[in-house]
Amino acid sequence: MYRAFLIKYAEIGIKGKNRFIFENMLRDRIKGALDGVEGEFYVVKEPGRIYVEAKSDFDYDETIEALQRVFGVWAICPTMMIEDKSWDNIAAHVVQYVDQAYAEKHFTFKAECKRSDKGYPMTSPEICAETGAVLLARFPGLSVDVHDPQERIYVEVRGNAAYVYSKMIPGPGGMPVGCSGKAMLLLSGGIDSPVAGYMIARRGVTIEAVYFHAPPYTSERAKQKVIELAELISRYTGPIRLNIVNFTDIQLYIYDKCPHDELTIIMRRYMMRIAEALAEKSGCHGLVTGESIGQVASQTMQSLAATNAVCELPVYRPLIAFDKQDIVDIAEKIGTYETSIQPFEDCCTIFVAKHPVTKPNGNIIAKHEGNLREEIDQMVKTALETAEMVEVTP
Ligand code: ATP
Ligand code: MG
Repeated sequence: MYRAFLIKYAEIGIKGKNRFIFENMLRDRIKGALDGVEGEFYVVKEPGRIYVEAKSDFDYDETIEALQRVFGVWAICPTMMIEDKSWDNIAAHVVQYVDQAYAEKHFTFKAECKRSDKGYPMTSPEICAETGAVLLARFPGLSVDVHDPQERIYVEVRGNAAYVYSKMIPGPGGMPVGCSGKAMLLLSGGIDSPVAGYMIARRGVTIEAVYFHAPPYTSERAKQKVIELAELISRYTGPIRLNIVNFTDIQLYIYDKCPHDELTIIMRRYMMRIAEALAEKSGCHGLVTGESIGQVASQTMQSLAATNAVCELPVYRPLIAFDKQDIVDIAEKIGTYETSIQPFEDCCTIFVAKHPVTKPNGNIIAKHEGNLREEIDQMVKTALETAEMVEVTP
């Protein structure tokens, strides 16, 4: 019954003069998402809304799922499309629509009509009145309530066809990826950083990612797991360039030269420095991590301050005030949880001290980093030069 989808968007609607840029981007993201779905679609932008029309057979569930992954989409309305716009034909289809869309025909409703085809022989109020009349005549269990209806039945008469819809399937919200600049996500194999990437991308930010691995201390399988997580995120964000940095020498060197209770913090600082260098090279405007206050020793306020201190770029931490369970809930919803909990070591867990500092002092940390002075610059340079780059797609 549905051959079209009306896409409603929320926040884009409040943009001023630049609104068309956001709308065009959303239309392009929708096209991109539907490229992966079997069937041929026509995506058209109208004032205040976007229509998707199927031009061939298509898989309904797959189409909805794809649209539900496009940031900027607030709701998806499966729509009946009626090409013959004579009123009798529209009326017959409105009845057919309600018959099929509702198992129980016992509800209050309001007809909402819109006529962008100004040459149409009926006005919007007339279409509303007729729609109501036809439904009341056909379904005795229905009644009209214009103030607080249980269902709103929309009938729109546009240039090419008439459209009937009433159901709204929630989209992910947010803004179309690409309209808010670019950021470098520090992506580990854990639960948190994929969620952080999802949340920043949902604000319209293009994501690039970096993963630090430490072979042979971390396995090839751990790296594959991170690639898999990037693939899962790319279903929402589009292609992600993933930088894979070999961190082994740096980690061993820190282990050799610095107090062990500070290993994690110093290691995190070097991750940030390298991530920032990569970010600047590819035009990113910030870094993104999955940190949350107090979750582990390296995420106390003092530790975060010490980690932050080495970066000039802003560091975005979308999960900063989230409880673990909140994060897990999102990970499950977006489909990264199952992959994240696969038991492969990430490089942090191998070199952790029994009693890491929880209140590091930035000056002391910086002083101990002085122990690395002989070789660290060259090591960082080598790590950057040998970084492997993978283009990840869904
Ligand atoms: P996650 O679940 O994202 O792994 P976590 O709770 O394990 O987070 P940490 O291991 O302290 O926390 O890492 C904090 C943040 O640092 C991560 O969210 C991630 O952004 C970044 N990070 C940690 N390890 C790596 C790594 N090996 N490669 C890239 N980023 C990392
Ligand atoms: Mg981790």
